[in-house]
Amino acid sequence: MSTRKFLIAGNWKMNLSHAKAVELAQGLVKQFPAGSPAQVALIPTFVHLEAVGAIIKGSPMKLGAQDAYFEKHGAFTGEVSCEQLAELAVQYVLVGHSERRHILHETDSLLNKKLLSVLAGNMTAVLCVGETLDQRKGNQTQSVVQTQLQHGLAGVPTGAVEQGRLVIAYEPVWAIGTGLTATPEQAQEVHQFIRERLAGQFGQGLAQSVQIQYGGSVKKASAHSLLSQPDIDGLLVGGASLIVEEFAGIIAAAATAKAA
Ligand code: PEP
Repeated sequence: MSTRKFLIAGNWKMNLSHAKAVELAQGLVKQFPAGSPAQVALIPTFVHLEAVGAIIKGSPMKLGAQDAYFEKHGAFTGEVSCEQLAELAVQYVLVGHSERRHILHETDSLLNKKLLSVLAGNMTAVLCVGETLDQRKGNQTQSVVQTQLQHGLAGVPTGAVEQGRLVIAYEPVWAIGTGLTATPEQAQEVHQFIRERLAGQFGQGLAQSVQIQYGGSVKKASAHSLLSQPDIDGLLVGGASLIVEEFAGIIAAAATAKAA
């Protein structure tokens, strides 16, 4: 039986005023399902990190950031370093979300630098991978994901993986924000493939310990069946994480899906 815990993360993207972000965090603290065995992270924009961090302090929820730059400090206007994030008690950092890959044209080599700096900063890196609809239709899902993993994870120290500080999020681009969710079977197939690739790099034992999240239009209604798949160890949630009742329902689903 797997010993992996579920990781449920809410990616708030570039949404919410300060007041609404505070209200959402406060609502989630109140509604957090009692006895949930899942690890939970809230991932607001940079400007809301400090306020959200203060609200969830002492709750089971952890703080995450949507991005980080790989340099430590200096003339990098508009960027935020891992050191600055760690100072705000950020524990998770997304790397290579598809919106950054496709809208902001972030490359695999840039993402690799970011991922290594997140790990060097003692935080957990969540590397997002996934294919576009055209790539899926062209039977390229595995080759796309394999390339993203190979470049993104180059040089990752085994110690960071042993400490549980590497998470992979499989997010098919065609399912993000579209209302289309991969079926549990479609997602499981790719998750299993990802775990095989991880085994190739880190060995079978370590690969079994890595949490692999699914993301793409997850709602509380779809959470349980996705989490019931053997290699789905959590969910990265966008739109539904902005609604207290939906996100609390997704966290609650983790308590009744396969044994954690
Ligand atoms: C995401 O932002 O990672 C995501 C999966 O978004 P949504 O749930 O809205 O598809």
